[in-house]
Amino acid sequence: MKLKKNDLVELEITGYTAEGNGVGRAGGELAVFVPGAAQGDRLCVRIVKLAKNFAFGKIEKILASSPDRIEQDCPVFRQCGGCAFRHIAYEAELRAKERRVRDALERIGGLENAELRPIMRADQTAGYRNKAQLPLGRSASGELLMGFYALHSHRIVACSGCLLQPPVFSQAMQAVKQWFSQSGESVYDEQTGRGTLRHLYLRQAPGTGEVLACVVANGSRLKKEQLLVDCLRGGVPGLSGVLLNINRKETNVVLGPECRVLWGKGVLLDCLCGLQFEISPLSFYQVNHDQAERLYETAAEYAGLSGGETLLDLYCGTGTIGLSMAKAAGRVIGVELVREAVENARLNARRNEIENAEFYCEDAGAAAVRLRERGLKPDVVVLDPPRKGCGESLPETVARMAPGKIVYVSCDPATLARDIKRFSGLGYRFVEAAPVDMFPRTAHVETIVLLQRETL
Ligand code: SAH
Repeated sequence: MKLKKNDLVELEITGYTAEGNGVGRAGGELAVFVPGAAQGDRLCVRIVKLAKNFAFGKIEKILASSPDRIEQDCPVFRQCGGCAFRHIAYEAELRAKERRVRDALERIGGLENAELRPIMRADQTAGYRNKAQLPLGRSASGELLMGFYALHSHRIVACSGCLLQPPVFSQAMQAVKQWFSQSGESVYDEQTGRGTLRHLYLRQAPGTGEVLACVVANGSRLKKEQLLVDCLRGGVPGLSGVLLNINRKETNVVLGPECRVLWGKGVLLDCLCGLQFEISPLSFYQVNHDQAERLYETAAEYAGLSGGETLLDLYCGTGTIGLSMAKAAGRVIGVELVREAVENARLNARRNEIENAEFYCEDAGAAAVRLRERGLKPDVVVLDPPRKGCGESLPETVARMAPGKIVYVSCDPATLARDIKRFSGLGYRFVEAAPVDMFPRTAHVETIVLLQRETL
């Protein structure tokens, strides 16, 4: 079947891509990706983009609706790049995510009939995100424009509140708008590199109720800073700090290297897994508190510590995983690249009276080499890398330290599966995977995997 742009085709949607688009095969062959489609839909689709092995389509008409479809409930769904699954029932979303993990393990990881636990569902599918980075712009009428980027774009979709966020974030957004209207402050322009306001960055600690509001600016001062503080303090319950983050670079990276406290505290305090964690605005922290606790419980179960073991926690952030297991371990060693996160981790150990944990600010791969050369023989290694997965030489270095178990926490099933394959060539057997729905209504899925050293 030879397709052209703008052709209309009839499609059965049989699954989803990693981004959450529906997939069908035109004429039984060419894969067509359709945003907003649901598995089980029969659709009339207009081809909007054609590549060699696939095409993108737009729904022209729903000929027969999937039983999974529900009424979507967000005014900017599909304009904003955040949610992928507001149009299907949560059960269907969970099935799609489970299948995505299985497909990655089998197709990329080369595993057959991989042992997979049922995905851990979230009790809360709304209001669960404890972090927001809202780009700021200026509307035609001169008001402060605040919202989210459209998918694959830097166009701001205005939004006064997001269903994934706690209501207190909308109050903070309102307070910043109120300040802006009286401040005379300028908005950063990506084209020219001029203007001041770039993002509003919000964080909430569900365990304590604390909220940090951080304005990201192309400069070290804001106009009417005291007014900003007053507006936020008056409008945001639980507010514990107001910060200015300085980002002067022409970059897509939201945060600059430096923060200045305008009022209150410069860090957020949360409770997680019965421990207290202090988190700097520059440190990574899991965005879904309740599901993070479940994730860490599964990590602890997979690690199976009995008291005397040495645990190496690579990509440790503020130390949360290692510290949550420290009481069951002999020694915990954490490695993390971001200096503020390492400082948080060290303080977090002290705050929780944990004396058997040490943290290093280093690249995980370089640290693993150094620790191995010094003769470290961890019993368990926890890996929780960013989306791109483990550094190139890391699996080999870890395998040479010969831990009995590797617990791999991943937010990308594809790089996870690739790394599992690398480990399987290094004597590590895949035991089991447990998908966790950390990000309901979005296309993202977290997975935790146990690998075991093969005894020769
Ligand atoms: N385990 C932590 C953090 C996971 S996110 C938690 O559950 O909260 C991944 C972390 O890896 C981030 O903190 C990031 O700063 C860090 N990181 C990214 N690249 C790294 C590298 N090459 N070496 C060490 N840490 C790195």
